[in-house]
Amino acid sequence: MAIDNEDLIGCPARITLDAAQLAFFGELPADAPSVQAELGCELEQGHEGSHAALGQQVDTTMWWVQWTLSASEINPYTWCPAKQERVELDRDNTECTLFAGHSGRHSSTNRPWQSENAA
Ligand SMILES: [Zn+2]
Ligand SMILES: [Zn+2]
Repeated sequence: MAIDNEDLIGCPARITLDAAQLAFFGELPADAPSVQAELGCELEQGHEGSHAALGQQVDTTMWWVQWTLSASEINPYTWCPAKQERVELDRDNTECTLFAGHSGRHSSTNRPWQSENAA
């Protein structure tokens, strides 16, 4: 699953994961490909609090990397309640893809899901 947020006007902060963090993600029982070493904050520009980037999702748990200028950590979260279950065949549906309790506005990324070949 490729999540491309490059076209969003979001927080420009980025983080490079260290070896221990990459190892942590590498040991999660996730089917997804391994986490990129560099992640970008997925919150809105000018948000309060720590920056946050989704590292890996395991079942209903999302592991978010959160960081400030001086520290970073990985925390488990559930989806933001504003996220709606993916409505079938409604590609224009918007949903918040952030974690529960995130700062800033909900992300409602009119994502151009161009692949209809999920089946
Ligand atoms: Zn940020
Ligand atoms: Zn939200």
